[in-house]
Amino acid sequence: MVKLTFHGGVGEIGGNKILLEDENTSILLDFGKNFEKERRYYDEPYIKPREEKHLIYLGLLPKIEGLYKKDEREPSIDAILFTHPHADHVDYVRYVKDSIPLYCGETAKTMILAKEMSASGHLKEYKIARMTRDSVDVPKTFKTFRTGDKKRLGSIEIEPIHVDHSTPGAYAYILHTSGGTIVYTGDFRLHGPRAEMSREFVEKAKEASPEALIIEGTNIVDAKTATEKEVKEKISRIVSDAPRLVLAGFSLNDIDRLKTFYEVAKKNGRKLAMSMKQAYIVYRLREESFPIFRLNDPNILIFQREKRTTYKWEKEVIDNFSDNVATGRDINAMQGEVLLAASFYDMNEMVEILPESGSIYILSQSEPFNEEMEINHEKMLNWLERCGLPLYQVHASGHADPHQLKWAISEIGAKKVFTIHTERPRLMARYMSDLDTEIISPTEGEMYAVE
Ligand SMILES: [Zn+2]
Repeated sequence: MVKLTFHGGVGEIGGNKILLEDENTSILLDFGKNFEKERRYYDEPYIKPREEKHLIYLGLLPKIEGLYKKDEREPSIDAILFTHPHADHVDYVRYVKDSIPLYCGETAKTMILAKEMSASGHLKEYKIARMTRDSVDVPKTFKTFRTGDKKRLGSIEIEPIHVDHSTPGAYAYILHTSGGTIVYTGDFRLHGPRAEMSREFVEKAKEASPEALIIEGTNIVDAKTATEKEVKEKISRIVSDAPRLVLAGFSLNDIDRLKTFYEVAKKNGRKLAMSMKQAYIVYRLREESFPIFRLNDPNILIFQREKRTTYKWEKEVIDNFSDNVATGRDINAMQGEVLLAASFYDMNEMVEILPESGSIYILSQSEPFNEEMEINHEKMLNWLERCGLPLYQVHASGHADPHQLKWAISEIGAKKVFTIHTERPRLMARYMSDLDTEIISPTEGEMYAVE
């Protein structure tokens, strides 16, 4: 018998934390932060969780023996398996003991580390990776794989299979346990540039005749059906009509969207000015031969914000690609020739950039909930109003739509289906009720047996 306990991602989008116990082996599937729940109690930067005890007290972190840094007991968990590098699946690992092995894809590890090294705001002991004056410090124990690599962990055989999602390094898991096979989708889509990978996963999952399937249902409401190709065409039309500066906001993880904007810029005779953080991620991904584009490409600029301190990771980008670095003043002088990636957090830079009349803003990221960080829509609109920037919204989702979800469930053919990562599990259960399977909307913290 295998036991499943859902400690997050239940009736909500993100914050997945699933405990799987099989004979003497216990693993966690994802260990994400739930932005929505944290916001109920915190208001950063004025008040934020400093250490694990705060989040345990609020019920945002599950009580699991020996799991956290300040718990001196032996860990009761053998490993944590991550599906992909979005914060709502990964971020709370910072509170976990460094000795507990973390399984994820090669690319996912690169993304997690690049984002963490270029981020600030966490106490040193809770950083997943740090760049010091002369070294890179990664205290965590990563065990990486590529698709199809099988690994044994006690009584469980792990088979990661790549899927398409709005970040590179996304995997689903086929877990062969003593109580039969359990499949976990993580987040996935079937309309993206690599939809083939998700279809391959569905096929492999079906072949494994699973007892149980744990599936996401983000887009059971508000499904956006656009493909990345359609997004590209729409953005290109908007950009070709824009006489002056084009600004664009999209998720740091969304490398497909970054590539889309790069291609649109090039096609329209513009340069894509990306943020220093985006450049750092591209730089790191290229090192492990993940093809995007070259940072010294003549169609690329790296936008350097106006600030006093330059961190080591920034210096690395600046030193290597100094010819392509541009300041706000540089952008100001070439408004009709640039497509500038600028998020809400870059709005102070508008004082130097001074977008001229005829400039526009394209918002190209998810939905009110956000896997990375909720954009503060009201405040963003105030900035756009102040700068005279009209707002366009063009986006393609990282998640499967209702038809595709139903297709995946019926193809895989598991006896039990647990629906997570959705705000409407009951809707999802009713929509799936004609399928020949038991649909379960789990309750948080409750244990379910699979045998
Ligand atoms: Zn995700």
